[in-house]
Amino acid sequence: MAEEEVQEKEIKGEPIAIGKTVVIKDLAEKLGVAPTNVITELMKNGIMSGQNERIDFDTATIIAAEFQREVLQEDEDAGEQAEGIAKLEEELASQEKMIKRAPVVVVMGHVDHGKTKLLDAIRQTDVVAGEAGGITQHIGAYQVVKKNRELTFIDTPGHEAFTAMRSRGARVADIAILVVAADDGIQPQTKEALQIIQKAGLPMVVAINKIDRVEANIDRVKTQFAELGIQAEDWGGKIVMVPISAKEGTGIDDLLENLLLVADVEEKRIMADPTRRAIGTIIESHVDAGEGAAATVLVQAGTLHVGDNIIVGKTFGKARTLKDWRGKHVKEAPPSFPVQILGLKGSPQVGDVLEVAVNDKEFRRMRKRSAQDRTVHQDTKAAQEANASSMTDENGDKKEDGKEIAELNIVLKADTLGSLEAIEAQISKLHHDDIHIKLVAKGLGNITEADVLRAETANGILLGFNVPAQQAAEDVAGGKHMEIKTFNIIYDLVDDVIAQAESRLSPEVLEDTHGEMTVLAVFFTKKREQIFGGRITKGTMKNPSMLKIMRAGVEVARGKLTELESNKVKSKSVSEGSECGVKYEGPGLVQVGDIVRSYTRKEIKKTLEVR
Ligand code: GDP
Repeated sequence: MAEEEVQEKEIKGEPIAIGKTVVIKDLAEKLGVAPTNVITELMKNGIMSGQNERIDFDTATIIAAEFQREVLQEDEDAGEQAEGIAKLEEELASQEKMIKRAPVVVVMGHVDHGKTKLLDAIRQTDVVAGEAGGITQHIGAYQVVKKNRELTFIDTPGHEAFTAMRSRGARVADIAILVVAADDGIQPQTKEALQIIQKAGLPMVVAINKIDRVEANIDRVKTQFAELGIQAEDWGGKIVMVPISAKEGTGIDDLLENLLLVADVEEKRIMADPTRRAIGTIIESHVDAGEGAAATVLVQAGTLHVGDNIIVGKTFGKARTLKDWRGKHVKEAPPSFPVQILGLKGSPQVGDVLEVAVNDKEFRRMRKRSAQDRTVHQDTKAAQEANASSMTDENGDKKEDGKEIAELNIVLKADTLGSLEAIEAQISKLHHDDIHIKLVAKGLGNITEADVLRAETANGILLGFNVPAQQAAEDVAGGKHMEIKTFNIIYDLVDDVIAQAESRLSPEVLEDTHGEMTVLAVFFTKKREQIFGGRITKGTMKNPSMLKIMRAGVEVARGKLTELESNKVKSKSVSEGSECGVKYEGPGLVQVGDIVRSYTRKEIKKTLEVR
């Protein structure tokens, strides 16, 4: 037995990575041992804990060492998010009590191909919402009923939001609609969206939109897809392509029916257990002037109830109010049901995983964890300020360690996500301690009036890459004497950012001391003017130059050298070892014994570092 133990200890596994704290059960799993083994080791160290309790990094290191394993600190943010997502996936995978839930659909496609219009058209098919007054709220997602079945639509069109959620690891959608305008065909963002859909492994339905237009050519779109290896079902392929007109409402029913068919095929994946405590992902988050932090969660498993204690990302709170997309107060939100939560202490980020604490004790513990190393917004005001910081709070100069820090806020529009990311990457490489360069807003598509206003609010600059500015945007910008700059070469755009940033940096002033003399006699004194003589002990005294008067090692005055003589001859410069006469213009009184330095001021333009 003892021998076995020794042998076991000799086996060194891979290092394990944990965050600043770890749940004992999870640590045990990472170590590949039973939780009781870890609890036993903890007890040996005088720590009495249950398997669901957390220990800190240092304790975990000591315990892991007992199992001959090394512990590495993982990136905390990524760690916590990964932890949340792992939990989410684990929860979603538990097979018990699983029932069908509404499929969650995202809409993607090229700018102006009709994504927003389609989402509006689908929303209008909901008779119930219409009867309830018809004023739907934009909370980031909504549901409609088709054939007595619910469908959930994420109503932030475009792949930016989707990518933002996915970049944080969350799997929110079940099906994608790829919208292509029949009069414009496949465009760069269509291809990008397609790649994103394929990478995410999402089943897809293509909506060929704007078929009401005379230029519409459905077959051309199908041919273009075929060239990309995507065959339409009616051409013998697998992908359903539905001709629609979002404007006139044609084909919408057909599209919805096809989404339901895809959902049937994917049936096993589109299930959840509504009985457990809720877990979900934040799909929209903002601060409402009247109501404070408002975040929309798409519940993915379990049911969220009013009054639930919630931990989400870096914030927490009690679900004071739950509102659906009709603005209706609801008591609970089952899986796939999007609701806006009011009552959180701060604004979570899109993509953050929401969890519900089972009881007050757990809530307090989770809260403590969430507060530990981070600034938790203590009240809504703080949250408001924090949220606004991405735009307005960043205006103007700031002090950091007493130093003036300039700001360059940028609003950037580009044609594709790829170019947007490439530009962002280039801009993030530009550095100087005296300036913050910040992309306060970015997006795809033409430059609009809203972009101009955004740039104005941020006191920033407005740049476009491969996109024109709409006339209205030009007009508004003109009225505000704002310049909209557009580029079609990334490096030109980045060069402009560099130039604009450097123009905001005040030059560095350097003093170039070239000579030093000791004053031996003062010949003449009048207000702000003196003539004195002395011996040059270092370098060269120059005319013209600046003078610094030093007494007992301390600077007493500064002024200008306006005349310089040596052996009664006027001179431009006199060097070390010689005697000279100097006319000084400036404050203070020069005395015998003072040291006088001759120097020139140099202004050096500050330049950004690229790294
Ligand atoms: P998004 O950028 O993809 O969200 O596109 P929008 O939904 O904002 O639509 C862009 C423009 O195309 C708007 O002027 C819409 O009115 C128009 N549009 C959208 N769908 C249709 C359609 O089915 N037919 C026609 N003729 N115009 C449409």
